[in-house]
Amino acid sequence: MIAFFEQPDREFMTLQLHDTLQGKKVPFVPLRKGEVTMYLCGPTVYNYAHIGNARPAVVFDLLARLLRRNYKLVFARNITDVDDKINAASVETGKPINEITAQYIKAYNDDMGALGVLPPDVEPRATQHIAEMIAMIETLIKKGFAYEAEGHVLFDVSSNGSYGTLSKRDLREMIAGSRVEVAPYKKAAHDFVLWKPSTPELPGWDSPWGRGRPGWHIECSAMAEKHLGTTIDIHAGGRDLVFPHHENEMAQSSCAHDGAPFARYWLHNGFLSMDQTKMSKSLGNVLLVHDLIKTVPGEVIRLALLSAHYKQPLDWSGETLESARRMLDRLYGAVQGIDVPAEARAAAEVPSELIEALEDDLNSPRAMAAFFALAKKLNKETDENRRIELAAEMYACGDLMGFLGSDPDTWFAGHVQGDLAAEEIEALIERRNAAKAGRDFETADAIRDQLLEAGISIQDGRDGTTWRRS
Ligand code: AMP
Ligand code: ZN
Repeated sequence: MIAFFEQPDREFMTLQLHDTLQGKKVPFVPLRKGEVTMYLCGPTVYNYAHIGNARPAVVFDLLARLLRRNYKLVFARNITDVDDKINAASVETGKPINEITAQYIKAYNDDMGALGVLPPDVEPRATQHIAEMIAMIETLIKKGFAYEAEGHVLFDVSSNGSYGTLSKRDLREMIAGSRVEVAPYKKAAHDFVLWKPSTPELPGWDSPWGRGRPGWHIECSAMAEKHLGTTIDIHAGGRDLVFPHHENEMAQSSCAHDGAPFARYWLHNGFLSMDQTKMSKSLGNVLLVHDLIKTVPGEVIRLALLSAHYKQPLDWSGETLESARRMLDRLYGAVQGIDVPAEARAAAEVPSELIEALEDDLNSPRAMAAFFALAKKLNKETDENRRIELAAEMYACGDLMGFLGSDPDTWFAGHVQGDLAAEEIEALIERRNAAKAGRDFETADAIRDQLLEAGISIQDGRDGTTWRRS
């Protein structure tokens, strides 16, 4: 067994991550110095992704961006393109399976791309790793962790003493309270399928156990091994995957690898609900990214998804997008009209407050607060050179967090529809007051005119400046 945290890491000592297995926030130390491997369970491609599905994609994209600053990262996000739900979708629609999977793989990548999710380094597809899955299943049988029964191969849960440690479940309690129907070919209710037989009309591959198809869990174990090695640094996914999916992946991989840890850190995002209700097709409250991006800029959706800490539940309501839009208006409003030369952009650093927030278990709300503090500083600044430097820092933050990808004028032309947003008005007022304080009356007057043109009249009073739409 490889000990955790045996090697100090001088390059990135401050990153802390909450590991589900250890049940606490711990310092992150990769297995190999300077390198990180990360695996995220990706989509099952039989329909469009909803905003809940987009949460892990966006959250762990942010982590990947942060890791790339200091490490050589290999990030794998798989595609499950063989699954009973895909087979059912094919029967329902009359479309061939490969047409369905090709359509939704493309849609997933386009939709996530619109949310600023960068492509992973590897995007392994289950159907292209059947040989690796068969090899791993054979190893598990040979080592006494799996058995064949009536064309199925099952993982023998009782053979693995660590089963239940990730999800903190006691196997005996699970068996006692079990309502799982015991299939006749299973030795025990909780034994799970590694391989199952296929009928002629279903997808299937030849194997030592007859023509069949893999179980879902073995797909990820085999693909992670092939692309990232025996022990990976970070394994991520949504909370719902802790049990049984990740518990089973961990059992398969560590048993196939003689007890070597499968993942050094397990990260799980909290669930997204809609108006306090679980998102579900039957309730009709599923919001598809594919539909939403037709009317809402991807950056607004991204910010809404990062507005809560990734481990916390996130309740999506009408206000979520509105407030994300206002926040982005504030960021774009601050950099609007400032021409930042390429050299200034290249030289700019992300402020340490923002990095520290992200290094603290990816605290995105705190990182955004640091981003806004920088915008405020920029709004108040009157020195032109300093304004360019601060704007360059804003763009550096944007590059890291996946924002400010549009030209500010285009942003406002496209999304404010003629009306200045409140946040932008306030940013302009802050700038005007700073100009006045610096006795730069020309700029102050120009800003007043700009506001008047946009139908905003301002009133300077003892308690500051108030405004109203005329
Ligand atoms: P699926 O395609 O259902 O396997 O889900 C893909 C990813 O989305 C998994 O990591 C799930 O844990 C995650 N996920 C599904 N629904 C939600 C939700 N409502 N909130 C957050 N994550 C979710
Ligand atoms: Zn998985």
